[in-house]
Amino acid sequence: MNIKITPNPTPKPKPDVNGLQFGKVFTDHMFIMDYYGGQGWVEPRIVPYGPIELDPSCKVLHYGQEVFEGMKAYRHADGSPVLFRPEMNFRRLNISCQRMCIPAFDEAMALEATRKLVELDADWIPDAPGTSLYIRPFIFGADNALGIGPSEHLIFLIICSPVASIFGGNMAAVNILVETELVRAVRGGTGFAKTGGNYAASLLAAKKAQVAGFSQVLWLDGVERRYIEEVGAMNIFFRIDDEIITPSLDSGSILPGITRDSCIQLLRSRGHAVTERRIAIDELCQHMRDGRVREIFGSGTAAVVTPVGGIQVCDEFFTINDGKSGEVTTMLYNTLTGIQTGKVADEFGWVVRV
Ligand SMILES: *Cc1c(COP(=O)(O)O)cnc(C)c1O
Repeated sequence: MNIKITPNPTPKPKPDVNGLQFGKVFTDHMFIMDYYGGQGWVEPRIVPYGPIELDPSCKVLHYGQEVFEGMKAYRHADGSPVLFRPEMNFRRLNISCQRMCIPAFDEAMALEATRKLVELDADWIPDAPGTSLYIRPFIFGADNALGIGPSEHLIFLIICSPVASIFGGNMAAVNILVETELVRAVRGGTGFAKTGGNYAASLLAAKKAQVAGFSQVLWLDGVERRYIEEVGAMNIFFRIDDEIITPSLDSGSILPGITRDSCIQLLRSRGHAVTERRIAIDELCQHMRDGRVREIFGSGTAAVVTPVGGIQVCDEFFTINDGKSGEVTTMLYNTLTGIQTGKVADEFGWVVRV
C-alpha cells in the first residue's frame, strides 16, 4: 500500500526539552487511514498534525470501541533515529483489536507508516538523557450511529510527542497504594488488551491514591482481590531475597508489557532467577515484614523501569530499600536505556533503524 505524504507547510517551533511534560506537545505530522466495511483498510496517508472532525454520534464517544499502543523512538549517538521492538507493539495492537471487534490491519504496513512518520519528524526526537519521541498508534470505531455494535468505519491514527521520563527521570522512587476495593480488570474481560476503557475504569482509584499522596495504584485481581496484577501503566516485579518474581499473565487480566518481556530476558541473561507466577498480597506482606523484599520496580514504555520506594497495604506502610532504587532496578534501567540509545550492545536485536 502506498502511503501518501502531505508535508506540513508551517512546522512548529520545537519545545524546550527541559520543560517537557508527558504527551502535551505533538509533532508536525500524523498518520491516518480508514477502514470501511466491504473495502478494508484504505487511504493510508501522512498529513499535517491537527484536529479531526467527528460527528457527535461517533460511536467511540458513546461505547468506547478503541485500542491503542505506546512505543518510543530514540536518537542514537550517531544521530540516527531507532525504534525499540516495534513489531511487538503492532502484534499486540492486533490482539487488542480482536478483543474489541476491530478489523485486523497489516502489521508490516503499520510499521512502515511509523518509520515514514518518524523519518519525517526525526528532528523532533529529543536527545537529552531520558528523553525520547513517544509514538501513539490508536484505532477507534467511527460510525455515526447510536446503535450498539461494532463500527463499520474505523480510523487508525499515529501521533508522536517528544517526552521526558514519565516520572521526571533520575530514577526517583514512587510510593504506591494497594487498591483493595475497586478493580481494573476481570477474568474474561479486557485487561490483556490495550483499550481506553481499562484506563477509564482505573481513574477513580488513581484519584483516590493521589489524594492520599501516592503516585500509583497497585491492582489486585478482580475475582478474589488477592493476587497482585499490575500498576496503572506498568507491570510489577519483586525481588524477594535473590529471586525476582512477576505476576504471570495467564489470568488474562494483565497487560503483557513489552518492557516486562525485555526485563525478564535481560535478567535471565545476566544470571538472575526470574519466576512468573501468581503472588498474593498477603504473601508479599509477609515477605516485607520478614525483610526479604529487597527491591520492587515497575516496567513500561512510558515509565521505563521505575523503582517503588514504598507500598501501602491497608493500614501498613512498607519502605522498600530505604525508598531508593536498588541494584537490579538500576542495572535494568541503565541496560534498557543504554540499548535504546545505542550505548549498550544490542545483544537481543531489539533495536530497529528507522
Ligand atoms: C502499556 C501498558 C503496560 C506496559 O506495557 P509496555 O509494552 O511495557 O509499554 C502495562 N500495563 C498497562 C495496563 C498498559 O496499558
